[in-house]
Amino acid sequence: MDLKKLKILFPDLKIYTDVSMAEYCSFRAGGRATALIMPGNISELRGVLSYMNDENIPHIILGNGSNTLFSDGDHELAVIKLDDKSEDFSFIRFNGTEKDEEITAEAGAAGLLSVFARRVSQEPWSLTGTEGLSGIPGSVGGAVFMNAGAYGYETKDILVSAHAVSADGTDERDFTPEEMGLSYRHSNFMENGYIITSAVFRLRKDDQQAIKDRMADFTERRVTKQPLQYPSAGSTFKRPEGYFAGKLIEDAGLKGACVGAAQVSELHAGFVINRGGASADEILGLINKVRDTVYRDSGITLEPEVRLILNRDLDSFEY
Ligand SMILES: Cc1cc2nc3c(=O)[nH]c(=O)nc-3n(C[C@H](O)[C@H](O)[C@H](O)COP(=O)(O)OP(=O)(O)OC[C@H]3O[C@@H](n4cnc5c(N)ncnc54)[C@H](O)[C@@H]3O)c2cc1C
Repeated sequence: MDLKKLKILFPDLKIYTDVSMAEYCSFRAGGRATALIMPGNISELRGVLSYMNDENIPHIILGNGSNTLFSDGDHELAVIKLDDKSEDFSFIRFNGTEKDEEITAEAGAAGLLSVFARRVSQEPWSLTGTEGLSGIPGSVGGAVFMNAGAYGYETKDILVSAHAVSADGTDERDFTPEEMGLSYRHSNFMENGYIITSAVFRLRKDDQQAIKDRMADFTERRVTKQPLQYPSAGSTFKRPEGYFAGKLIEDAGLKGACVGAAQVSELHAGFVINRGGASADEILGLINKVRDTVYRDSGITLEPEVRLILNRDLDSFEY
């Protein structure tokens, strides 16, 4: 992978080579990528994407890594991560005055969703709409891409538009909600390859204490019902229509099941956790074990919600 020309074209661009993806993913496991590239503005992002396209370099986009797992070993891949230290990709801007009943707020895609949720909920803004999203540990871009949601809140409910750059870097534009097509853990960005650089949300004024109480309630529920002391990617599988993944997994007798140091959480069977030192291949083996066992037990196929970056076929991971 020749990145020398890219460095010449963009002298300030952050480029790291032979990078452990375990450091960038919430599972704290996974192999190494040939390069990690962190554009700090849209012009750099467009340049990087054009370069990847022209030079035929395989690449993927990573947000905060809280829903992504790379298998062990080497990945001949450039991982592009918008620089969350750059104001261009982590700003929060309010459009309206503190007195307006309804306003829009725009956020850079690399900023954390939790930081955005806290900021809009606090004085002087006291805006409601993000309380249920406040404990989700992803970036704003990742939340739009995944249509992240919890406790009856979904990203799509407050999303007005998103700005995005095409996969080959040649185009950038705003997307309407219809064009984004957000539904349960899905957006059209999964198919069209556009990279989200910022998003605009519509929020309403509410009583500061009521907002605080709701956020405290959701935090309490997370802390008591989710194994937050262990690395994970949250719910490992999507909710199959009409069922709960965690219940199917529990009914199949898998609560606490292990492959190496990867375990189906005893607290919440919907979470696969890293008990400490699990390899990504152990986690992937456990994902296969859960999927196969639940299918044998109930006839239902569980689909991973976690985005798997694999250097070999998923079925080959053993348990
Ligand atoms: C403890 C824990 C609890 C969780 N709870 C919830 C929950 O309640 N609800 C929920 O929905 N999720 C939950 N998650 C999962 C995760 O936080 C969300 O899916 C989140 O939206 C992922 O954002 P990210 O930035 O970390 O994405 P990443 O994992 O970095 O990426 C996920 C996908 O988004 C794409 N992507 C990321 N940024 C962009 C961008 N700017 N443009 C285009 N594509 C992009 C990536 O290519 C990848 O395919 C939880 C995870 C953990 C670890």
